[in-house]
Amino acid sequence: MKAQILATPAAVENHPLRYVDVPTPEPWDDEVLVKVNVCGVCRTDLHVVEGELAPRLSQVIPGHQVVGTIVKSGKRAGKHTLGTRVGIPWLHRTDGICEYCRSGQENLCENALFTGYTANGGYAQYVVAPEDFVYPIPEGFGDIEAAPLLCAGIIGFRALRLANVQKGDTLGIYGFGAAGHVAIQVAGYWGIKVVVCTREARHQALARELGAEWVGGAYDVPPIRLNAAIIFAPAGELVPAALGVLKKAGTLVLGGIHMSPIPSFSYDLLYHERVVRSVANNTRQDGLDFLKVAAEIPIRTQTQIFGLQDANHALEALKHDSIQGAAVLRVS
Ligand SMILES: [Zn+2]
Ligand SMILES: [Zn+2]
Repeated sequence: MKAQILATPAAVENHPLRYVDVPTPEPWDDEVLVKVNVCGVCRTDLHVVEGELAPRLSQVIPGHQVVGTIVKSGKRAGKHTLGTRVGIPWLHRTDGICEYCRSGQENLCENALFTGYTANGGYAQYVVAPEDFVYPIPEGFGDIEAAPLLCAGIIGFRALRLANVQKGDTLGIYGFGAAGHVAIQVAGYWGIKVVVCTREARHQALARELGAEWVGGAYDVPPIRLNAAIIFAPAGELVPAALGVLKKAGTLVLGGIHMSPIPSFSYDLLYHERVVRSVANNTRQDGLDFLKVAAEIPIRTQTQIFGLQDANHALEALKHDSIQGAAVLRVS
């Protein structure tokens, strides 16, 4: 099969992904083999390819927003019938036995594998995944529009849950890429007012189009104080800026897997019971709950399509903030 392989992380401008022929994987007992239709491109892929996430395998196929069709099942896999259209997300497999798994926090599993990082992902014609960790895709979504739901969508949804916002509250979203443009739709559906702070004019325009009450630059001060905020941009400098506009007892959620250093700031910004917390991965229940809400709303994703052979270019465009919505690789 054709695949994009990463052997040595490097700046994406140097095109570290190589488009090569590799053997098609075989599913283990509890796995399914999925023929990939499309695979979304996530900022985490960029962190893998450029080495901000330390390499864990000698080489890896990135990509963890896979939409495809089950074409083969392992000996003990029978939950989904052949031909089922499924999504494969970032959480590839957990051990099911560590203290986190046993307490409903499998997103923090000590021995988790991650698709496209510590297990091969979907920048390829075929990929294997444990059948318990793939989700049937709701029928109302086409392959391309479903892809960004699988990480940007699920992580944005978990970030919203952790932000602890209620109907009528005001939420700030910092950075308005793939996750932001999905999260604003869920927030709107829940009756939450959203303000968006982002530097790119095109992202600002999309935020207005999707119902933001107010839109400004990354460091502009919104006209109302916020009950909660989510930072999707990987910029630590935004933390004090966002804390500065939170109400007392407000929550600031950091939505990324990697962030530049957070500058020191006055305790006054945190005092009055403000909370700063990160989001790590997702549970399977987050995924199931989110896809249900996504189909109800229904979420509409904006995508920019690239061929599988153009994965380096897609990542370059993402790095330079020139993707409107989410980038998706068309595989077959
Ligand atoms: Zn575990
Ligand atoms: Zn992701």
